[in-house]
Amino acid sequence: MRPTNPEKDAEMSVEKTDTLVIGAGQAGVAMSEHLRNAGVPHLVLERDRIAERWRSGRWDSLVANGPAWHDRFPGLEFSGDPDAFVGKDQVADYFEAYAKKFDAPIRCGVEVQEVRRNSDRSGFTVTTSQGVIEAERIVAATGPFQVPVIPPVVPEQTDIFQIHSAQYRNPQQLPDGAVLVVGAGSSGVQIADELMQSGRKVYLSVGPHDRPPRAYRGRDFCWWLGVLGKWDMSAPKPGTEHVTIAVSGAKGGQTIDFRRLAQEGMTLLGMTQSWDSGTLSFADDLSRNLANGDANYLSILDEADAYAAQNALDLPQDPEARKRFPDAPCISHPILALDLGKENIRTIIWATGFAVDYSWIKVDGFDEKGRPLHHRGVSVVPGIYFLGLPWQSRRGSSFIWGVWHDAKHVAEQIGIQRKYMDYHLEASRVSETA
Ligand SMILES: Cc1cc2nc3c(=O)[nH]c(=O)nc-3n(C[C@H](O)[C@H](O)[C@H](O)COP(=O)(O)OP(=O)(O)OC[C@H]3O[C@@H](n4cnc5c(N)ncnc54)[C@H](O)[C@@H]3O)c2cc1C
Repeated sequence: MRPTNPEKDAEMSVEKTDTLVIGAGQAGVAMSEHLRNAGVPHLVLERDRIAERWRSGRWDSLVANGPAWHDRFPGLEFSGDPDAFVGKDQVADYFEAYAKKFDAPIRCGVEVQEVRRNSDRSGFTVTTSQGVIEAERIVAATGPFQVPVIPPVVPEQTDIFQIHSAQYRNPQQLPDGAVLVVGAGSSGVQIADELMQSGRKVYLSVGPHDRPPRAYRGRDFCWWLGVLGKWDMSAPKPGTEHVTIAVSGAKGGQTIDFRRLAQEGMTLLGMTQSWDSGTLSFADDLSRNLANGDANYLSILDEADAYAAQNALDLPQDPEARKRFPDAPCISHPILALDLGKENIRTIIWATGFAVDYSWIKVDGFDEKGRPLHHRGVSVVPGIYFLGLPWQSRRGSSFIWGVWHDAKHVAEQIGIQRKYMDYHLEASRVSETA
């Protein structure tokens, strides 16, 4: 009988792969496609289901922000109207179908708990909820929006129901009464509008934002941002890192217009600042934020007109797009403090963004805020790659169409590293036989 050596046996039974991709959202699926095309053996681990965030991590009525012809991967079209804004479940179905199309090696229901760099050999030891895996390299594709961030303004102990936009599902979920939505990016403004349409009194705290026209002169903004090179912008304008983009595909696609929402009954406020015994204070910046948003909006119309003229495009004129709604009283006489009790505000929804959490990757490759130190997804720590980060290489990086292009780059970089290793192995074989 063979003498037993538990350590050796354990080592021998450890599963090995060349490249381990963590997360099977759109980023993980795109990564798998490009790794397969590059001939890189790999495995994708997903703790839930493929595209889980689209399926269960967002509100019930969410539709894609971009039309079906744009918000997709090159290799598969959505069925149905290409100009439609498809629902979140259809987006999840799309990625499932996409993964099936090339038989992506995705293992669902497996959570990666820890990644450690091996000290005595190349590669990484990855601890998962179903055992250990050894990988030469890893790609963290765990999403740009991982940890909901709620600024510590209102104490948790109040009787106000407070949730993050990531926890919002529908109006029925909230206690009766008025609602304050803090944050007017794409999530905040859509949630606020849905609540107002359901008959709630709604307050919306509006910070700095960009708000492109939904469509102009017969073309969707995704088209305009594409031809004007704005999806490909490689970095945010200096000092504007936190400017959110307010767009929506809801109601068949409408431009976000805060002045119109105020005319329809929404009470707009400036940035939420501080809390004192039931009263919330707001910055006196509403007019400025709206004016900057308008300037961004108008600059896109101007650039679009110039592009159309220069390229002699035969597009219909669109004078309606330059019409401005009059200022409602909440804009002309800004509210700087609100007694939530008096206004019967029983719910606050914080649409205040997300942070990332890579604490499970035990390497020295992150800044003081835990953000990856990388160039276009290639970490400063050899063998580690990221995908789907905001502005990973361009504005489009965290969106459906952009992540596919970044995945291609990351796969190329992995291929290059593998070539170097192959050369090394080849060279050592030659010197051994010499
Ligand atoms: C409300 C909202 C609407 C959006 N609408 C659009 C839109 O219309 N068009 C568009 O292009 N973009 C949109 N986006 C942006 C972007 O497309 C999505 O955020 C998208 O989900 C990002 O895909 P991802 O694969 O990078 O990350 P995710 O979808 O977050 O996928 C990451 C996956 O990793 C898994 N995971 C995480 N940690 C682990 C672990 N330790 N082990 C194993 N698995 C793990 C998660 O379960 C998840 O499935 C929207 C974003 C939000 C928040």
